[in-house]
Amino acid sequence: MDIKSVIRTIPDYPKKGILFRDITTLWQDAGGFRHVVDQLVWPYAGVRIDKVAGIEARGFVLGGAIAHQLSVGFVPVRKKGKLPGAVISEEYELEYGTDTVEIHQDAIKEGENILLVDDLIATGGTAEAAINLIRQAGGAVIGAAFVIDLPDIGGAKRIAAMGVSVRTLCE
Ligand code: AMP
Repeated sequence: MDIKSVIRTIPDYPKKGILFRDITTLWQDAGGFRHVVDQLVWPYAGVRIDKVAGIEARGFVLGGAIAHQLSVGFVPVRKKGKLPGAVISEEYELEYGTDTVEIHQDAIKEGENILLVDDLIATGGTAEAAINLIRQAGGAVIGAAFVIDLPDIGGAKRIAAMGVSVRTLCE
């Protein structure tokens, strides 16, 4: 199926000049939602994955569905201050300023194989911070899966340069 046909583009959101790729229209489409989950999961058949880590917030929906399909646990990678327990944090650069992502200290055990999931990769800054967190916790990131790549911005290359294999479904 043509994944792009069910992804809506909203210009000038959240600020002027940004083309926001809105995957809520993909989720509303039962066949489209199932298709992207299946497409993101199949390359990992036979690969040992212990947990899926999903990036807030759209990575929770995709990552939850992927974790269910793989019959593994799920770890939320959240923005600063949202997790109730003890956390580890990683700050990363934005165009203007910085942001911070966190996971629970006990979410990932030493030696666990983690699949990282989000809806879209742009600069790769968010995914890089998430990978640093997972590695700090002792996990190995065995792959990073996204529905959409913005190849001109170069995030997928940046993540590949960290030694993580990247899977994306459309550009
Ligand atoms: P980055 O850290 O630059 O790779 O940005 C990735 C994060 O920002 C992801 O969680 C995306 O959901 C979100 N994001 C960045 N650019 C867009 C865009 N054009 N449309 C939708 N989401 C975006």
